[in-house]
Amino acid sequence: MSQCKRQKVTLLGATGSIGDATCDLLELHSDEFEVHGLAAGGNCDRMFELIKKFKPARVAMSDAMAANKLMERLTAQCPDLAATTDILVGSEGVTELSGDGGADMVVGAIVGAAGLKPLLNAIKTGCRICLANKEALVMSGQLFFDMAAKHGSQVLPVDSEHSAIFQCLPPSEQSRMGTCDLASVGVKEILLTGSGGPFLNCDLAELDNVTPEKAVNHPVWSMGPKISVDSATMMNKALEYIEARYLFNASSDQVKVIIHPQSVIHSMVSYEDGAVLAQLGQPDMKTPIGLAMAYPNRMTTSVQSIDFTKISQLTFKQPEKERYPCLFMGIEASKQGQAMTTALNAANEVAVAAFLSKRISFKAIAHTVDHVLSSISGTDAYELEEIMAIDSKARAIANAFINK
Ligand code: NAD
Ligand code: MG
Repeated sequence: MSQCKRQKVTLLGATGSIGDATCDLLELHSDEFEVHGLAAGGNCDRMFELIKKFKPARVAMSDAMAANKLMERLTAQCPDLAATTDILVGSEGVTELSGDGGADMVVGAIVGAAGLKPLLNAIKTGCRICLANKEALVMSGQLFFDMAAKHGSQVLPVDSEHSAIFQCLPPSEQSRMGTCDLASVGVKEILLTGSGGPFLNCDLAELDNVTPEKAVNHPVWSMGPKISVDSATMMNKALEYIEARYLFNASSDQVKVIIHPQSVIHSMVSYEDGAVLAQLGQPDMKTPIGLAMAYPNRMTTSVQSIDFTKISQLTFKQPEKERYPCLFMGIEASKQGQAMTTALNAANEVAVAAFLSKRISFKAIAHTVDHVLSSISGTDAYELEEIMAIDSKARAIANAFINK
């Protein structure tokens, strides 16, 4: 990749797992990218290190105490940087930074619904969006792509499965995320693969005794705690199913979920002529992040190619309903509309947080989501206010159910 002018990047969720991988790429390719802004929640120590490394013009922390601590530390230890770094406070600060127009691309790697408003604000600037924060799309897919079209913002997938699908589509469709016409290019269906998580082969009875420690211990990928639990319940695949439908403008019948424990194939596209295209690689997010940043080019990364002589087998199986109720609830919610997918996401976020803090059992995550979905009526939501109202209502119902 060769460019005379460095691309300016704002990284949302800079201190997380995707944030870390993105920072590695930014460091490796510092001749092509410079950091305009960094945003995160409350990890002041990590942000302090990142400011020293990247010298961003602006930083935002949603946790006000962390932001204040960061300012004090910079002033005391790095007065030069304190003078040149604009530090914004609170979730309003994160949203302001995202939409300030100072970046050519925004990497969306905040976890959960908190990433939605910052991303919509970024879209308004017409910049490229490298999208990891799938929950934002689950809540607002229609609005997200309508706004991207209106403001000329190019949305590129970072989620590894969606990056794989993207790479298996022809350039005509790659250039119109959100408005693809899959049938027109001979696509029969998208095969969305998932590892099945740590409980793929355990006795169903063992699911009664799953601890947070066991649930976040993913067999293949190393990720943040929320997405690790989502992988164990396969809610992650449900969110990805919804994400795929919006990204590739696919009908519910055009996306199939299939378990592939080795995670060597990252997803596939099946064509009408019998051909199936797949993208393969190491389970390392630097590959899809790098592609989204460098597209239509590719960038070098530290990721090694697969040594096929070391792979003994690639296996596939259908997901079971009893083991992964969240997956099936998510697919059903997607058929009903955006109000239900927003409620599903909100209920899941509340339930996963309760599970991680040992307030509910692993199986109660699915029970909570089920309860919320059966308590919410209405199938459609479009405007941000409607989406946020359903999100709040679903969170309140989920909390009441958990505290009962
Ligand atoms: P993580 O928990 O490791 O990191 C989350 C980041 O978001 C942190 O920097 C945190 O400080 C920040 N954050 C949290 N709340 C915030 C708020 N209110 N305002 C600003 N920043 C906030 O999570 P992760 O695993 O990096 O995942 C991030 C997103 O990427 C998720 O949506 C996830 O589904 C998606 N994703 C992750 C992976 C992966 O391999 N980790 C793969 C595909 C997609
Ligand atoms: Mg994924």
